[in-house]
Amino acid sequence: MLALKNIHKKFGDVEVLKGVDIQVEKGDIVVILGPSGSGKTTLLRCINFLERADEGTLLFDDIHTDFSKASKKEINAVRKKSAFVFQNYGLFDNKTVLENVTEGLIIGRKVPKKIAVETGIRALEKVGLSDRLDYYPSQLSGGQQQRVGIARALAVNPDVILFDEPTSALDPELVGEVLQVIRKLADEGTTMVVVTHEMAFAKEVASHIVFMSDGNIVEEGDAASFFDNPQEERTKQFLQRFR
Ligand code: ADP
Repeated sequence: MLALKNIHKKFGDVEVLKGVDIQVEKGDIVVILGPSGSGKTTLLRCINFLERADEGTLLFDDIHTDFSKASKKEINAVRKKSAFVFQNYGLFDNKTVLENVTEGLIIGRKVPKKIAVETGIRALEKVGLSDRLDYYPSQLSGGQQQRVGIARALAVNPDVILFDEPTSALDPELVGEVLQVIRKLADEGTTMVVVTHEMAFAKEVASHIVFMSDGNIVEEGDAASFFDNPQEERTKQFLQRFR
C-alpha cells in the first residue's frame, strides 16, 4: 500500500536519513524504534510531507512520485490519505474538542458541517470522549487531549495513521489510557506507523518492527524475533536498556 525507498534527508550539513526504505501493507502496524536522534520522527514526517525528503521515491496506492519532484497535487493526495498524531497533541486551544476534530473535515476536505459533526462525534465516541464535546483543550488532561488528537485523525478516515511518540509528553499515569485507544484501533485492523519508546506496547501490537540508529535501519522483523532474538549488536545494546 505504502512504500518509501532510499529516503535521504539533510538538515543543513547533517544527514539524518541516509537511505531508508520502509514498506507498509494494509492492516500493518509498523513500529519504529531507536535511540533519540536516530531519525525516527523525521522519517515519519517525510511520509506525509511534513518534511520534504531530499531524495527517494514514494508509492502510496496509485500515487507514485519522487520526493524531490512531488507536485502540490500529489502532496495533497498523500495528505488526504494519511493522518498524523503529534507528540504534543497539536490541538487548537481556542477551539472546542468537537471543533478540533471537525476542522480538518470542514476546512480541509469541504465536508458539510452537519456530516462533519456527526463524523466528529463518532470519532470522539471511539476514544471515549463523547461527553467532552464542548470542552476546551485546557480543560482536559494530557491523556484526554491526545485522545482528541487521535479522534481528529480517525475522523478523516485515513488509509494510514502516523503516530509520533504519542505518549511521550504524558505523565506516566496517563500513558495507559492512550495506549489502550491505540490498541483498540490495532485490534480493528487500522493501518498505522508508530514511533514510540513504549517497548511492552511495541512488542504487543507491532506486526513489524523497524529499528533505526543514526539515520539508518539497522534491523527489522516481526516483534517476537526482534525482541527475543535480535541479530545486530546495536539492537542488543538498545534492548538491554529496557530489560
Ligand atoms: P528521533 O525521532 O529518532 O529522536 P529526529 O528525527 O527527531 O530523531 O531527529 C534526527 C536528527 O535530526 C536529530 O539530530 C535532530 O536534532 C535533527 N533535526 C530534526 N528536525 C530538525 C530540524 N527541523 N532542523 C534541524 N535539525 C533537525
